[in-house]
Amino acid sequence: MSYKITLIPGDGIGPEITEVTKKCIEATEVEIEWDIKMAGEQCIEKYGTPIPDETIKSIAENKICLKGPITTPVGTGFRSINVFLRQHFKLYVCLRPFKIYEGAKTKFKDVDIVIIRENMEDLYAGIEFERGKAETLQLIEFIEKTTGKNLSQNTGISIKPISVENSEKIVRFGFEYARKNNRKKVTVVHKANIMKYSDGLFLEVAKNIAKEYTDIEFEDKIVDNMAMQLVQKPEIYDVIVCPNLYGDILSDLCAGLVGGLGLSAGANIGEDVAIFEPTHGSAPKYKGLNKVNPCAMILAGILMLDYIGETEAAEKIEKAMAEVIKEGKYVTYDFKNSGESYVGTIEMGKAIIEKMGAKW
Ligand code: NAD
Repeated sequence: MSYKITLIPGDGIGPEITEVTKKCIEATEVEIEWDIKMAGEQCIEKYGTPIPDETIKSIAENKICLKGPITTPVGTGFRSINVFLRQHFKLYVCLRPFKIYEGAKTKFKDVDIVIIRENMEDLYAGIEFERGKAETLQLIEFIEKTTGKNLSQNTGISIKPISVENSEKIVRFGFEYARKNNRKKVTVVHKANIMKYSDGLFLEVAKNIAKEYTDIEFEDKIVDNMAMQLVQKPEIYDVIVCPNLYGDILSDLCAGLVGGLGLSAGANIGEDVAIFEPTHGSAPKYKGLNKVNPCAMILAGILMLDYIGETEAAEKIEKAMAEVIKEGKYVTYDFKNSGESYVGTIEMGKAIIEKMGAKW
């Protein structure tokens, strides 16, 4: 079977790590027709936007997209493309696996956690009221009238909406993922003791849905305790389902557990469309230097292959990548201590492809 997939190399270090990832995927011999599209800084002059219509159309048509990092232009008035894509395609799930590969630079061992984060609501919904604006003052007045709470006129307000519908979808996704992937436990994270009507609702929905999945252990944890426990005993966690903000923070905590952003990728998944990307940004200072770690982008490719059902190909790349990391000979600077020798992005990619028994 042949797939048509939108490929966005992005900007900064994006094109370099995308090239390596594309070659790794091609080495599996899965037939893919890449529909290569642009997004990022280089589009602004030509198209007047960092995300041209033809790129959006390609994702809508192909449904699957592998995307490199994209710089968020500062001071141009353009919003983050990543946030735009999540909202536009209603990618309500952000799925991020964290696993320790032997040879990665980390103090931890036995981490194999998947964070499933609600991707559209919560404090990221973009409903904000600026300090001093007429509507903000009106809202302050309304709050005083309805709750008796007196806010300073100098207050800025961000709204935290959490709906039953989206909470149900994300928690169900978490349990289904656990079931399909032979995972044993789902931990739901919240701060329901303080935010009764947002996090409290999330927890209530989670408890109800958990009753349908008696084959999977369920527990809930308050987010601050969860942060501590993840550092103290990460090995006891399996699938973690979170509202948006906690998912964002705990994901980076988990990236720290497994060796940093260079080894962390994510899938943004909706009903129709799924976009796979490394978690790190475009690291502009390393652009064109053949220096950075290609693994996060390769892991995004692995997630994508898994998602389209090409599990064998995904495993083949992962195994080769894991061996290269373990041997530690052809790895990039971030796997090494200062003074130790390392190789470039392409050389690490070549070593992975060679381990797959293929040619660059
Ligand atoms: P960044 O992740 O690009 O870089 C931070 C630092 O992390 C780098 O200086 C580098 O030391 C390290 N790093 C990142 N990727 C690495 C890799 N593959 N290998 C080795 N080291 C790596 O974060 P930033 O500098 O805050 O952001 C740069 C731009 O990227 C910003 O415009 C930001 O908005 C954007 N960004 C995009 C995405 C995305 O497209 N998904 C995500 C985060 C940030």
